Amino acid sequence: MKILVINCGSSTLKFQLVETTADSASMGRPHKLARGLVDRIGGPASCHFEVAGSTPVENRLTVDDHEKAVALVIQWLNSMPELRSIDAVGHRIVHGGDQFTTAAWIDDRMVESLDSLCELAPLHNPAGVSGIRAARKVLGSTMPMVAAFDTSFHHTLPETARTYAIPREIAQKHGIRRYGFHGLAHQYSVMCYGQLTAMPPEQINIVTLHLGNGCSACAIRGGTSVDTSMGFTPLEGLVMGTRSGDIDPAVVPFLARKEEVSADEVENWLNKRSGLLGLSGISNDMRELTAAYNQDPRARLAVDVFCYHARKYLGAYLAALGGADAVVFSGGIGENSPLVRAKICADMGWCGLRLDSAANDALIGSDGCIAQPRSAVKAYVVHTDEESIIARETARVLTERTK
Ligand code: AMP
Repeated sequence: MKILVINCGSSTLKFQLVETTADSASMGRPHKLARGLVDRIGGPASCHFEVAGSTPVENRLTVDDHEKAVALVIQWLNSMPELRSIDAVGHRIVHGGDQFTTAAWIDDRMVESLDSLCELAPLHNPAGVSGIRAARKVLGSTMPMVAAFDTSFHHTLPETARTYAIPREIAQKHGIRRYGFHGLAHQYSVMCYGQLTAMPPEQINIVTLHLGNGCSACAIRGGTSVDTSMGFTPLEGLVMGTRSGDIDPAVVPFLARKEEVSADEVENWLNKRSGLLGLSGISNDMRELTAAYNQDPRARLAVDVFCYHARKYLGAYLAALGGADAVVFSGGIGENSPLVRAKICADMGWCGLRLDSAANDALIGSDGCIAQPRSAVKAYVVHTDEESIIARETARVLTERTK
């Protein structure tokens, strides 16, 4: 089955064309046929289209909206016989609220439900919904389409982990609870760890640390999420590229008063000007900060605060789980930074976690174990592939409907 996976941001459209087979659907590693990016939608945009194993095609042209971007992608795919005839489209949607606890078939009513969820995730959901509308307009509403959600994997959070200690009636009235995000990435880590260790999902007890520009930790028991660091929005939890992560909520009204700005503006600072960028004053890019670590005290502090928070969550989740078999790193930083992994796992012998420093230094951008053979708690690195999960879920929903 040929599945087009679409992931829309406010001014971007990323896509992958993947081929799932009965076997790859179950193993979760579909064959990649093509991929690409339309960047800076809304004006003069750059397009990068690439057939697997070939030289990418780069183009600059005006792309007014997501509909035009989808049309360009389809036009490019149709220009190559081997990429024509898509069977289905899988869309990534950040927030599924309480309604969508698993990937869901898209029809008119479903799109309306997604519209109503935009209030819960105003920074993330509108782009995904415009991607769906655009794809239905370009490909027709009879093209099978499925939405996969970043929140779904966390629908198993127990009440104790998902509930904020605020007045219950207010929380219920406004749907305020911890939803968790990055679910597709954490789900992929579980699947990949299962493949690396030949363990069935129901026996997997691990802590996953997804460290990229956005970062989150997840406590996994029996292959399901029982706690995660992002909450009502993706702002809570670990220090991220430009997001503060955990902060005393009283800081928001305090800063609003002192700086004479609205609470929305302070929230914007916490989302866009904080984290590694805010701490270092240099960059949100961990590559630059680790390169400057020994010379620049601000870069050092940013890296150290980042690692300290991740380490604190790792300890908390080991306690929440009553111990785990492994910590699994993913995301651009988790996959590529031995320094960050070493700092997070330093002196963890007390819980049985001992990194193999040679393996840690050597493993960059691929999957494998970085713990010593005698380490009771292992450490693994996996190369995140959320598109594989979206394609697999799309194939699953489609197959169930046609049964
Ligand atoms: P992601 O959001 O998962 O694409 O991750 C993006 C982040 O990964 C970038 O902002 C970088 O900070 C980080 N990254 C990528 N490569 C490296 C590297 N070699 N060392 C440290 N950080 C890296």
